[in-house]
Amino acid sequence: MGTPILKLEHYINGRLADTDGGRQQEVFNPATGEVSGHVVLASNDDVQAVVAAAKRASPAWAETAPLKRSRILFKFKALIEKYHDDLAAAITREHGKIFSDAKGEVTRGLEVVEFACGVPQLLKTQFSDNIGGGIDNWNLRQPLGVTAGITPFNFPFMVPMWMAPVALATGNTFILKPSERDPSPSLMVADLLHQAGLPDGVFNVLQGDKLAVDGLLAHPDVKAISFVGSTPIAEHIYSSGTQRKGAYPLRVQALGGAKNHLVVMPDANLEQAVDALIGAAYGSAGERCMAISVAVAVGSIADKLVDALIPRVKSLKVRNGMDADAEMGPVVSAVHKAKIEGYIDAGVKAGAKLLVDGRNLVVDGHSKGFFIGGCLFDRVTPEMTIYQEEIFGPVLCVVRVPDFTAALDLINGHEFGNGVALFTSDGNTAREFSRRIEVGMVGINVPIPVPMAWHSFGGWKRSMFGDTHAYGEEGIKFYTRYKSIMQRWPESIAKGAEFTMPTTK
Ligand code: NAD
Repeated sequence: MGTPILKLEHYINGRLADTDGGRQQEVFNPATGEVSGHVVLASNDDVQAVVAAAKRASPAWAETAPLKRSRILFKFKALIEKYHDDLAAAITREHGKIFSDAKGEVTRGLEVVEFACGVPQLLKTQFSDNIGGGIDNWNLRQPLGVTAGITPFNFPFMVPMWMAPVALATGNTFILKPSERDPSPSLMVADLLHQAGLPDGVFNVLQGDKLAVDGLLAHPDVKAISFVGSTPIAEHIYSSGTQRKGAYPLRVQALGGAKNHLVVMPDANLEQAVDALIGAAYGSAGERCMAISVAVAVGSIADKLVDALIPRVKSLKVRNGMDADAEMGPVVSAVHKAKIEGYIDAGVKAGAKLLVDGRNLVVDGHSKGFFIGGCLFDRVTPEMTIYQEEIFGPVLCVVRVPDFTAALDLINGHEFGNGVALFTSDGNTAREFSRRIEVGMVGINVPIPVPMAWHSFGGWKRSMFGDTHAYGEEGIKFYTRYKSIMQRWPESIAKGAEFTMPTTK
């Protein structure tokens, strides 16, 4: 582990594929701007091969006792702990986020593995003894078969872990289609699962782009797809997946983009609110689906808040993510950097006040890296594109509102509803906010309220399509099918046919 893999292949049926020719794409180290590898992009034949492998492995894995599946996951957990630093280094190398943040990502992914290790308990169901006439009634949750996960670039370890451990623990086989921008951590996961004793074909990695995704969506043997990424693709996945015809329509959950607000009430502790905003807006260069990209300053606190933010944004330590004192690394690619800069230009044109301008930043010794310094806009208004659209970069917009109700209306009027935070010292304001806000994940004096592994993750509105949230108990439901069983034995069966609706007599 730890040595960069230059040709990033599919992992099918317990081994790396050896794709000859075909399409490939460069993978970059965002800190240096250099190519660190080439990822293969799946053809239709690769899609067929990976689904066939996962289908072959499915019956035996579904029949494996949950406790045995759990034992393999326990070994996998120990291996993640052993290779924690290697996994984090691979994330930093291809994504760019700082090493300590990458280590945090590994820990949050590990927590879902720990949750999934409890699968014998999680699959325990309900039993009703003697509902009448010697009949018992109970229910099962059974695996679906071949399942797939399609994941974004911004959490190349954690988001696959939202899906795979739960899918595997519940007896499904799994195909991971990671982002083509940072595919290495997925291959490391495949290797660790193999070392943990997972049978061949139960976990597979299909590298690729739209062709791979559309192939998985259309394949009749794929029974469920969990997607995390931007909203336009989430909509595409959800609508084509749920419209697929067949005996078992595809089950889809599709988590999309975000625009997360942090409301600062006049009674908030200003220092705490500023610390929270700096970490949540600029951590991981703003490339988190739960990043705070809008500070909603309520009433009299606005000037004080902006004055306190300016020096903090100016003094952010933007460096190569492996540098010990780095607070923020580069963004993922040159294309993404240009897109973020386009938003900053649009904000200036629309009349927002750019108080800190991170464009044109050059980091010592990294002139080709994809760096942008922290940016801070004030006087942003709801009709501006920098307010409406997800920038996914180190850009914080301050919107000033007169009161609490205006803050609620602003956020509830936004098309996204992933995460939100409120900073206040008043319990009643906090309670009202939690109850009235139309957002899936709410933090009260907590800037990034990502639910723990035994709760579930997901947004509202155009931040999520589908009924079940990711991981936790919702994840167990997503990856299993409910079946109810009624049973009696000949001794308790009365003679004669019954023509009325059976009831308890
Ligand atoms: P993306 O939508 O570009 O890519 C996500 C996945 O979809 C990748 O595996 C990619 O290969 C695939 N893909 C890309 N274009 C496709 C197409 N035309 N057809 C089919 N598949 C396609 O997202 P990204 O840029 O990798 O990640 C950032 C986005 O993900 C942001 O919008 C962010 O908010 C979102 N995100 C959301 C959550 C959440 O939980 N809601 C979590 C992380 C990231």
